[in-house]
Amino acid sequence: MQDRVAIVTGASSGIGRVVAIHLAKLGARVVLISNESIRILEALEEIRAISPESEAFEADVTSLPCLEESVKLTIEKFGRIDILVNNAGITRDALLIRMSHADWDRVLNVNLTSVFRLTRMVLKPMMKARYGRIVNISSVVGVTGNPGQANYVASKAGLIGFSKSVALETASRNITVNCVAPGFIATAMTDALNPKAKEAILSRIPMGTMGSPEDVAHAVAFLASEQAGYITGETLHVNGGLYMG
Ligand code: NAP
Repeated sequence: MQDRVAIVTGASSGIGRVVAIHLAKLGARVVLISNESIRILEALEEIRAISPESEAFEADVTSLPCLEESVKLTIEKFGRIDILVNNAGITRDALLIRMSHADWDRVLNVNLTSVFRLTRMVLKPMMKARYGRIVNISSVVGVTGNPGQANYVASKAGLIGFSKSVALETASRNITVNCVAPGFIATAMTDALNPKAKEAILSRIPMGTMGSPEDVAHAVAFLASEQAGYITGETLHVNGGLYMG
């Protein structure tokens, strides 16, 4: 991955931060995008110790101007974008009957619409360069469904269909578009679960533990590598055996 330029969204914490660190260790120059200034700067400091040219932009992925500015500045600084990891994601859980329109819209905007927008923006330079690796972070529940998460599940299932369509549109340009679908990974997102829910989840995971962000980062790095160039439109599950496709 030497000198490749990789954008990672939601890189201030959790899976995104570890993915960014991992890509940097493999030689990439990483552009971090997240909407919280202090943590993104902390992450940048950590990553610059590995990959000094790396950059960070404080941007809400639901803001079109923020995304446009981030891509513009990335191209100005590096002249290229080789890898995009669409990782930013949120949950706003409720049973459908009680789910507010605002929570539906927010989750779809952060988790899915932002991916459409950012992917569309980076495709131009990737098509020109005839090289690109796009990895979208879906979820096991995007395939299995999950009560109380209709908005989140719709967004994560949407990413899988989106990735397949864009993969077909861009395959001839040497651009691959794949998903990684984590199961239950120990991050702030799963810390929010109550102990009873955590216990119930653990009892269903054949490997008996939650995964780590590193488990996900290895899968992302593989799909983002040159060596994965003949794999496109796929979903790689990282879930300790919880679901087998
Ligand atoms: P996390 O620790 O909560 O991290 C989410 C990241 O997304 C944060 O860096 C956050 O930045 C960023 N983000 C949220 N809204 C944003 C916005 N509007 N604009 C820009 N950045 C935004 O969660 P995580 O567990 O690492 O999740 C990462 C991805 O993996 C998500 O897409 C999630 O759906 C997926 N996933 C996670 C699990 C799991 O078990 N943890 C399982 C399956 C899939 P700020 O903090 O700055 O807002």
